[in-house]
Amino acid sequence: MEKYTFAQPPHPYWLASTSDADYPVLDRDIKVDAAIIGGGITGISCAYLLKKAGLSVAVLEADRLGQGATGHTTAKITSQHGLIYNKIKKQMGMEAAQQYAAANEQAIREIEAIIQEKEIDCDFSRQTAYVYTERDGYVQEIEEEAKLAQELGIEANFVTEIELPIKIKAAVSFGKQAQFHPRKYLLALAQDIPDDNSHIFIQSRVVDIDEEKNYLITTAAGKKVVAEKVIIASHYPCYNKAGLYFARLFPHRSYVVAIKAQEAYPGGMYITAEEPGRSFRSLPTEDGELIMIGGEHHKTGQGVDTRQHYQNLVAYAREVYPGAEILYRWSTQDYLTPDQIPYAGYFLPNTPNLFLATGFRRWGMTNSMVSAMIIRDLIVSGESPWQDLYNPSRQTIAASGKTFVVENLNVANQLIKGKLSAVPTDTELEAGEAKVIMIDGDKVGVYKDEKGTQHLVDTTCTHLGCELKWNAAEKSWDCPCHGSRFTYEGEIIEGPAVKPLRTVKGQTD
Ligand SMILES: Cc1cc2nc3c(=O)[nH]c(=O)nc-3n(C[C@H](O)[C@H](O)[C@H](O)COP(=O)(O)OP(=O)(O)OC[C@H]3O[C@@H](n4cnc5c(N)ncnc54)[C@H](O)[C@@H]3O)c2cc1C
Repeated sequence: MEKYTFAQPPHPYWLASTSDADYPVLDRDIKVDAAIIGGGITGISCAYLLKKAGLSVAVLEADRLGQGATGHTTAKITSQHGLIYNKIKKQMGMEAAQQYAAANEQAIREIEAIIQEKEIDCDFSRQTAYVYTERDGYVQEIEEEAKLAQELGIEANFVTEIELPIKIKAAVSFGKQAQFHPRKYLLALAQDIPDDNSHIFIQSRVVDIDEEKNYLITTAAGKKVVAEKVIIASHYPCYNKAGLYFARLFPHRSYVVAIKAQEAYPGGMYITAEEPGRSFRSLPTEDGELIMIGGEHHKTGQGVDTRQHYQNLVAYAREVYPGAEILYRWSTQDYLTPDQIPYAGYFLPNTPNLFLATGFRRWGMTNSMVSAMIIRDLIVSGESPWQDLYNPSRQTIAASGKTFVVENLNVANQLIKGKLSAVPTDTELEAGEAKVIMIDGDKVGVYKDEKGTQHLVDTTCTHLGCELKWNAAEKSWDCPCHGSRFTYEGEIIEGPAVKPLRTVKGQTD
C-alpha cells in the first residue's frame, strides 16, 4: 500500500471551523439546584433542558466546551444505530426495541425543534440513513432489520442499490434522519445557559464528589459547588467510588478523514453492516462540499500502530474516490456497554439525586438527547417512559454475561500483559518517536519532540494502574483498559483518570 504523508497533525473540522466560547473558570464556591459535569453534547443538552424546566444549573467542564468526543464525531443524527433493532428484540424483547426506536426518533425531532426555535445556524439537514452490505452473508439480516424497523414505525425500506460509487448487495434505509455541525449547535445551545443563577465554567475539572445533605463537588483548583442534583456527563464517569462502571464500559477508538472528491456527493449517510466498518456523509464547508469517511475502530490502546488506521482510511477513500484530496483527519473514542444500550438515569438504584449518561456506542447525537430527556423527566416528574431500558443498573447487564466476562478478561489481560512485557532499555529515539524504558525498576515512557527534548512519564495509568500504550498517530499515552489518555507531558486528555501522569526526571536530550 502506498504510504500517504500527512501535511498536518490530526485536527477535526468541527474545531477548525468554530472559535472558542469564552466562559469563566470557577473561582469561588457556589450553590445551584443541579451541577452537570462535562461540557460535551450530553452535559449541555442536560443543562439546557433542566434550566428550561426551572432549575438553576452549573456546567463544570474540565477543558473547553465541545472539544471531547463531541468535537471529533461524525454527527449523524439518526435512530439507525447499525443493525440494532433485531439485536434488542432478541435480547430484551419487542417492547424494548419499540422504546429504543421511539426515544431516538423523538430525539431527532427534539434537536430539530430546538434548532428551529433558536434559529441555530449549524448546517442541519434532513438526510436518509443507510446500513449497507457488500457481502451476501448480511443480506437476510438487513432484510429482517428493514421489516422490524417498519413494524416499529420507522420510515424504513429494503433496497439493493445506493448512490455511492460502491456495488452493494443490500441496504436498509431510514428516511427523515439528519446531520449537523455538532459544535456550532452545542455552542449556540450553551449561550442560553448562563444568567444570574445558572453558569458554565470551563477549565474547571471535577476531582471529587462527596455526598452530604446535598452533593459537594470539588474542582482541581479546590473550589466547591453545592448541588442537590448532580449529573455526570463526563463521557467516562469521573466518579468511581461505586457502580463498577470500569468493569462495564469499554473504550473503542475510530478514525475519520474529510476529503475533497472530484465527484459530487449524492446525499445520504451510510455505514457498513460488516467489518471493517466504513461510514460516509457530506460536509458543507467554506471550501465547498467535503465527504467524511470514517472507520477503522479498535479497542483504545490495543492493536496495530495507530498511524496505520489513517493510512488504511486514506487508501480506502482513494479507492472509492480516485484523486481525492485529504483536507482533514481526526480520531476519537466512545464507550460501549455489554448490551449495547447506553446508561442514562440514576447512577445507582439508591442515588435518587446522582445521575449518569454515557455508553453511547458511537451513537451519541440522539442518545445524548434521549439521556437528557430521561434525566430531566426523572428530576421533574420522577419517571420517564424510557427509564427502564436505559437504566444503568438494569438486569440485562448481568444477562449479557458473555460480553461482560470477555471484555473484562481483556482488561485483566491488558493489565497483566502491561506489567510483564519485556521493555527495551536503550533510549535511541528519532524525533517524534516514543518508547518505554526501565529506570530503577520502573517503566518510563519517553517521547522525543521535534526539538530533541525528551519527555519522561510514568506509564502507569493514574486511574486503576494499567500500563499505558503509545499512540503514534495522536502522540498520546493511551490506557488499553478503560480508555484514559494523556499527552506526552502527562496531562489528561480524556477518560476516567483525574490525575495527570507522574513526570520522571531523567535525561532531557
Ligand atoms: C469516530 C466517531 C464517530 C462518531 N459519530 C457519531 C455519529 O455520526 N452520530 C452519533 O450519534 N454519534 C457519533 N459518535 C458518538 C458521539 O460522538 C459521542 O457519543 C458523543 O459525542 C459523546 O458526547 P459526551 O458529551 O457524552 O462526551 P464528550 O463530548 O467527550 O464530553 C464530555 C466532556 O466532559 C469533560 N470532562 C471529563 N472529565 C471531566 C471532569 N472530571 N470534570 C469536568 N469535566 C470533565 C470532557 O473534557 C468533555 O468535554 C461517534 C463517535 C466516534 C468515536
